[in-house]
Amino acid sequence: MLEKVVIANRGEIALRVLRACKALGIRTVAVHSSADKDLMHVRLSDESVCIGPPSSTDSYLNIPSIISAMEVTDADAVHPGYGFLSENADFAEQVENSGFVFIGPRAETIRMMGDKVSAIELMRKAGVPTVPGSNGPLDDNNDRTLALAKEIGYPVIIKAAAGGGGRGMRVVHNEAALLKGVYVTQTEAKSFFGSGVVYLEKFLENPRHVEIQVLGDGQGNAIHLGDRDCSMQRRHQKVLEEAPAPDIPAAIRAEVAETCVQACKNLNYRGAGTLEFLYEDEAFYFIEMNTRVQVEHPVTEMVTGIDIVREQLLIAGGAALSLKQEDITITGHAFECRINAEDPVSFLPSPGKVNLFHAPGGIGVRVDSHLYSGYTVPPHYDSLIAKLICHGDDREQALMRMQIALDELLIDGIKSNIPLQRELVRDSEFHKGGLNIHYLEEKLSS
Ligand code: ADP
Repeated sequence: MLEKVVIANRGEIALRVLRACKALGIRTVAVHSSADKDLMHVRLSDESVCIGPPSSTDSYLNIPSIISAMEVTDADAVHPGYGFLSENADFAEQVENSGFVFIGPRAETIRMMGDKVSAIELMRKAGVPTVPGSNGPLDDNNDRTLALAKEIGYPVIIKAAAGGGGRGMRVVHNEAALLKGVYVTQTEAKSFFGSGVVYLEKFLENPRHVEIQVLGDGQGNAIHLGDRDCSMQRRHQKVLEEAPAPDIPAAIRAEVAETCVQACKNLNYRGAGTLEFLYEDEAFYFIEMNTRVQVEHPVTEMVTGIDIVREQLLIAGGAALSLKQEDITITGHAFECRINAEDPVSFLPSPGKVNLFHAPGGIGVRVDSHLYSGYTVPPHYDSLIAKLICHGDDREQALMRMQIALDELLIDGIKSNIPLQRELVRDSEFHKGGLNIHYLEEKLSS
């Protein structure tokens, strides 16, 4: 069992991790930038260490500073949260080489999944359905590239193997545009990600984004905690998520989840992870795996009753999974609205002082947020300031609770996207469920 954990993150997820540590009797160290000394989890942690100036490159991404904070405080493990160093294989490796525990998968697993070509290859071999594509990187044989695209069928999408954050992708609609598209994507990928390796996939026109939550203990055991639908996106950023994904035939749902578990067993996967899929015409297509806890993990917690961060901590402490697949049941339905400090119309960030913060409550309502009245949202980081999660016996009840909770939520002093979320949870098309990944942007532009 871990005794002292460094929380190498900020904001709501740092507070989320702190709560899970406390519940297990694990002591906590908050490492923070000089701009974040007033964060709620810094106040609540047993110890805190300032690891650098506001710029995340010099603080939350500063590997030597974080490792020395672990040494100075005599901690035994680090939880990376999401973003920042959470999927950085070099960080995981250096943590373990320094004699500490990285709360997440082994460095080699992170590295393998960080390369989308190798991740897809591995999943394909495990029987996970993937998007028809080049099944490997493109080489400099143009005739082969043209033949591959023809076989896949247009439109195709050219993607960088090292891509992330919605960058390093280009859709091509016909043969005339293919080779130039490949060249431009390779050049961009090289400058963004340091690797010009690209591959081809069939471009699916109207998919949904559906993902499967998994847990493995690195000791041969793995389970899944069902699925989530994250199709409500703007610029490839998720805005509102739900669990379970609506309107998927039970047999198809069960089959894909089962292949995900098998893939995790093959990998001897350790920790929490998510396999992301596009879902179209009752078929799943794997696109990538995230080897960390995700922003939207609470919707899964609400329908399964399982504390995913607690499981991460127990696994990192060396425990075998105590949960069996047959113990997992999905009860009711849950939504999560991401609340961002941004202008609801222009989407420009809106940092500043929160004069008044009032969180909603009531049955089935959960608020994961580091805000408090008087807190100043700094301009240096991601604009996520709160997650509002509502559970109900069914989708309609959860949505009704979300409408009420969003009306109660009060953040005064800075702008937020609450008006957009209020509108979305009352949208009649959204109430029907199963909308594709383009819906929100189409709605915003109409
Ligand atoms: P990233 O790691 O940058 O998030 P992903 O591979 O997860 O990249 O893809 C991000 C988004 O791009 C998907 O959610 C989807 O909207 C779109 N996308 C990716 N691959 C395809 C595809 N083959 N067909 C259609 N859309 C795609």
